[in-house]
Amino acid sequence: MPEMTAHADLLDLPSGGAGADIPMWIDGRAVASAGGAGAVRDDVNPSTGSVLARVHQASAADVDRAVAAAARSQLAWAAMGVHERAARLAEWGRRVTEAAPRLGLLDARDSGTAVASMAASAAKGGKFLQTIAGVAPELHGRTIPATPGGLHFTEPAPWGVVAALCAYNHPTLFTCMKAAPALAAGNSVVLKPAEQTPLSPLVIASLATDLLPDGVFNVVPGGAAAGEALVTHPGVPRVSFTGSLRTGLAVQAAAGASGVLKSLTLELGGKNPILIFDDVDPDSAAAAVVKGSNFARVGGQSCGATSRLLIHEDLREAVLERVVESTERIRIGMPDDPSADMGCMVSHAHRDRILGFVDAGLADGGRLLTGGTAPDDPELARGAFVRPAVFDGVDHGATIARTEIFGPVLAVTSFTDAAAAVAMANDTPYGLTASIWSNDIDRALGAARAIDAGYVWVNDVEVRYPGLPFGGLKQSGIGKELGLVDDILSYTRSKAISIAITPARSA
Ligand code: NAD
Repeated sequence: MPEMTAHADLLDLPSGGAGADIPMWIDGRAVASAGGAGAVRDDVNPSTGSVLARVHQASAADVDRAVAAAARSQLAWAAMGVHERAARLAEWGRRVTEAAPRLGLLDARDSGTAVASMAASAAKGGKFLQTIAGVAPELHGRTIPATPGGLHFTEPAPWGVVAALCAYNHPTLFTCMKAAPALAAGNSVVLKPAEQTPLSPLVIASLATDLLPDGVFNVVPGGAAAGEALVTHPGVPRVSFTGSLRTGLAVQAAAGASGVLKSLTLELGGKNPILIFDDVDPDSAAAAVVKGSNFARVGGQSCGATSRLLIHEDLREAVLERVVESTERIRIGMPDDPSADMGCMVSHAHRDRILGFVDAGLADGGRLLTGGTAPDDPELARGAFVRPAVFDGVDHGATIARTEIFGPVLAVTSFTDAAAAVAMANDTPYGLTASIWSNDIDRALGAARAIDAGYVWVNDVEVRYPGLPFGGLKQSGIGKELGLVDDILSYTRSKAISIAITPARSA
């Protein structure tokens, strides 16, 4: 076995990587995979193609070890009481916040997204742990006056072991978003990071060695096999999953087939509309379209990004001229360059998939106004880079108007009839976010109510507000995150207790 690197040392990983072996994190320590040959995956920096590290992949036996460690530690963690748990989570959050610039750099190299964006996202992760710690003592049940004299109350009880499965686009933030509420509620957690971005979750686990009892937080890197082993494990009653609709359906089916009833949160994909009515000024509209597309921050690899522009025909030309101008000003650079607005895609395979959608957009008759090719800069030639693509004249039925691309491709369709625009906004299996722009409050609110999406902005776009629950309707998911106390409560089972008190005894 080659020498293994301590997880904290990953924070100083050079951009070319060190090719070192990175173990899993189980029961409070670094553990080598029991999987034998094939149990190590090359973790590639998609901006260079070089191997950053060789990450141990959890086998079913490793997942079993992690779940057993989590189960062993959970009762003592829950018995510690919410104030003590909150204090420890707050300190963990402080450490993540302090390390955020370096976690962001690690995430940038691992995911290809620009470091400015990844460092900001990592800082949000640290802050989120601290915020959840702050509200955790608000976790409480209710008393219900069901009978005169009787005592009827509910108690929020932890599930036990929570499985957390993450998408690749915000590795530090998602680790904190999954861990904080589940741990605050008194559960222990086994987290499976996305196979492309396992490094920062392992570092974050190692930052809590003296805060969390051994086994309370485990990280098992791996792909579909590790995910399935975790989801179907009989010792895991609660699963919190973030990823694509396709995988979400597989998770739901596998959980059902496991023969053990499970509670699932599924945070899935979107094909989110930004709807611009004819009374908006073109500068604000264009700024909203570019911000909503999320080209600059994560190269469009955001579940909430607005990737379909539905625009009133009267504004189309003026807005698109501005959108193209500002899209072309986005500075594409190496992910670890602090001055880059946008890095590359998470992998070469994903970049090729996006180029395939560009071809499909053209084949369906869309007009490519800008982008959709690799940048000319020779420094970027080895990476999975792609220039953001804006397509005008996209038929509502075209592939790029209907499929979640999860990359920098904007499909523009114009309208003249407001009701038809709302109908197009809704004509998708997804229902994650929507953004509506109008100065007419009746029209804006009417559209906000009519559009079947879980998170709707009016004259605003691509921002999450603390406490406002985020999650999809329709095929975009089941359950919510970010709802502060509600988020913590979602990791509990409500237990009803009734104490009958006879009139004589109560007198
Ligand atoms: P993905 O579905 O490919 O993978 C998500 C996770 O599931 C990964 O950890 C992966 O290893 C694991 N996995 C894969 N197959 C599995 C299986 N059979 N059983 C169990 N686990 C399995 O998604 P991705 O490419 O990492 O992320 C992009 C997708 O995630 C997009 O659809 C995006 O919209 C969605 N997403 C949603 C939200 C949200 O909050 N709604 C946030 C971020 C990303």
